[in-house]
Amino acid sequence: MLSNEHLEKLIAEIEVLVPYAVPAEELETARTFVTLFAEDFFALGIIKDYYQTLPNAYEEALINIAVLEEREQVFLMLLSTTGHHYFYVTNDDESMFLGGWEGGLDDKQLLSFFGYPDSKSFAKAHPDAEKCRKYIPLERMNSELCPSCGVKTGEMHTLGCPVEVCPWCGGQLNHCNCRFEQLDVEEVKDEVLLTKFSRKLEKKGRIAYAKEQRPTFLESL
Ligand SMILES: [Zn+2]
Ligand SMILES: [Zn+2]
Repeated sequence: MLSNEHLEKLIAEIEVLVPYAVPAEELETARTFVTLFAEDFFALGIIKDYYQTLPNAYEEALINIAVLEEREQVFLMLLSTTGHHYFYVTNDDESMFLGGWEGGLDDKQLLSFFGYPDSKSFAKAHPDAEKCRKYIPLERMNSELCPSCGVKTGEMHTLGCPVEVCPWCGGQLNHCNCRFEQLDVEEVKDEVLLTKFSRKLEKKGRIAYAKEQRPTFLESL
């Protein structure tokens, strides 16, 4: 009942877009790539953006996301398909395609934001599109965003987010047994009970997202 609806919704939206954006022979490749990021809110947002925008109207599967620069939560990425590479910039509020690799990066403001005097010096720092640093699934775990539901530090998780901490037992809210105890039921099987639980939770005081809540298995990344 309490599942991570936000992630599932994003994946479902991408699944709808992919067949329109990719020829039959690349479908498998496109779908496999999406599964690498099944728990990564940030990467799924980028993938969705790509299939929604199709920057050059070529129908090609997205096969790589690389990080060229990052500063103050602004990421300059390179999105690669089977035939092309695109510059893409994103922060938590906005994202934009900046054109193809061949054309270079010539946005003056952006170049200077990342510390480059001109497009030449940028091209020198990133000589090979194939050799840019790959984005690692969930690497934004260290950031100010909840890796799962995407809220910012200090904000409330989307209800059902696996990262949310239970205010009763301190465990994982979508795994612990507190909801059954609080509602005095064996199973939370309908919306009425879920709403009731959500009210009790509000009353008790929900725990907002903080960096420390990120799952420990990711610390090694
Ligand atoms: Zn969350
Ligand atoms: Zn609990």
